[in-house]
Amino acid sequence: MDTVYFNGKFLPREQVLVSPDDRGFLFGDSVYEVVRWYGGYFFDMEGHLNRLRRSLGEVRIDWPEADSFPEIASELVHLNDLGDGCTLIYLQVTRGTAPRAHAFPDPPVPPTTYAFARRQSIDTLTAERGISVDLTEDPRWSRCDIKATALLANILAYQNAHEAGHAEVCFVRDDLITEAAHSNIFFVKNDTVYTHPESTRILSGITRRNVITIASENGIPLIEEALPAGMLPYIHEAFLTNTSGEIVPVVKIGNQPVADGRPGEVTRKLQRLFREKVSALRDLG
Ligand code: PLP
Repeated sequence: MDTVYFNGKFLPREQVLVSPDDRGFLFGDSVYEVVRWYGGYFFDMEGHLNRLRRSLGEVRIDWPEADSFPEIASELVHLNDLGDGCTLIYLQVTRGTAPRAHAFPDPPVPPTTYAFARRQSIDTLTAERGISVDLTEDPRWSRCDIKATALLANILAYQNAHEAGHAEVCFVRDDLITEAAHSNIFFVKNDTVYTHPESTRILSGITRRNVITIASENGIPLIEEALPAGMLPYIHEAFLTNTSGEIVPVVKIGNQPVADGRPGEVTRKLQRLFREKVSALRDLG
């Protein structure tokens, strides 16, 4: 039986009781964060903590203990005996429990907080071979920069892609490629890397930011500029980034192979540099 965090306590998952009037349940009125533990240390906990604070601020959920996320995450790893492997820690904060009404509870109620740790290794076969992604109009709201749990649009688009045999779905808004259902997307053309700039149209991925830093530290040209969907036939490489998969080559978009349909050299180089960065953190810690 695993131990989870719920409203300030560590307890067996089976003992968690969430009210049916919780606003996370009723409205999806909540935000979340996911960080990776690499068998001894977290990857960019500071980045994840800052993004959590930002998400809470943008939706005006007041969780005074937000700064304790690193301690909660560490405790979950240790209480569940997950210290030696790759683990994802999920945290969700809802606006709390109150009779159903759109207005925020007045007076405010305490937020509901829930976190769990789950062993999840990097899928090295996928990182090696690459994946196929579907392409569709971006069906989401206009605040994709907030890590909100209300993911119905992502889920429906992802399920359609999944049923069509793709491993992810990537979104197009106003003819520009934004990001994917649970990852950021990058393209390579003539050895220059392109990705959508930070805006309300994408989530500012922690992996994305680290890839941008790695590229700049290693002299790999990278421009934060959105790719027009019409340019897809002319790109040489594509890859996705997220906390659960790191850097995943994209070898097919819709029904079209990306270049020769194999992971490209720049993608491979960034994968290697990212792995080196992860290992360097272990040596530091
Ligand atoms: N974009 C979306 C919509 C996501 O849901 C995620 C991760 O879940 C990402 C991008 C990648 O973010 P990160 O690298 O912080 O995991």
